[in-house]
Amino acid sequence: MLRVEGIYKTFDGFVAVNQANLHVEKGDVVAVIGPNGAGKTTLFNLITGQLKPDRGKVLFKGKNIAGLPPYKICDLGISRSFQIVNIFNRLTVFQNVQVAVLSQRKKILNMFYPAQNMAVDRTNEILESVGLLEKADLTCNALSHGDRKVLEMALALGTEPELLILDEPTAGMSPEETAVTIKLINKLSKDLGITILFCEHDMGLVFSIANKIMVMQMGESIIQDTPEAVKNNKRVQDAYLGGGD
Ligand code: ADP
Ligand code: MG
Repeated sequence: MLRVEGIYKTFDGFVAVNQANLHVEKGDVVAVIGPNGAGKTTLFNLITGQLKPDRGKVLFKGKNIAGLPPYKICDLGISRSFQIVNIFNRLTVFQNVQVAVLSQRKKILNMFYPAQNMAVDRTNEILESVGLLEKADLTCNALSHGDRKVLEMALALGTEPELLILDEPTAGMSPEETAVTIKLINKLSKDLGITILFCEHDMGLVFSIANKIMVMQMGESIIQDTPEAVKNNKRVQDAYLGGGD
């Protein structure tokens, strides 16, 4: 589904992503791990069009999408959440998701039909699937941090992605909220068939849900393999897992 080949990005001469490679098959749950500053967010920005690579390819279903604008990449079926939550605070949970759904359906908007009645079923369906239906009418500034992060995933689902990219989906969450998010990611993968690529600091989460792990270090992708193989890799243990814990 996704094949990143030799992607390279510098910021004023500083190499943030250095010839990185990544592959994601349909149905995979792939984790990217690596210390702060390793280049994970930059890699995701290169895949989703927030940044243009200096060199390298991003093949999505065989088509090179490197350098396309984010809305085109989103139209092709890749959606993402951000490390820093990005929602309309004064709108309700329902309205936030509805906006995301409508943004995808702009071609069928009818000017004689009130906007608040549009895409209601699809919006409710998404809220149900992420477990936010009871909170649909709350204004977003009343949500807990955990609920806000989950809402961000709901927004990403609004565009009906084949590939969902999550940047630190449990950052700042309590252990309870993290457990809910793990269940949610499993559900999106298993029940809705969405392919998932995420980066995460919480190794418990990574090893419990990923079927493949890619390790980044100083902009390079040093290995991509099964969780078992990554855990047992000497270079990874030395560089990152601190002796294999
Ligand atoms: P990670 O997500 O793995 O923590 P990032 O991709 O955010 O790492 O950052 C990789 C490196 O690139 C860091 O050293 C960071 O400071 C640098 N970097 C990221 N974005 C920019 C930018 N827009 N301008 C300059 N340097 C950047
Ligand atoms: Mg980051």
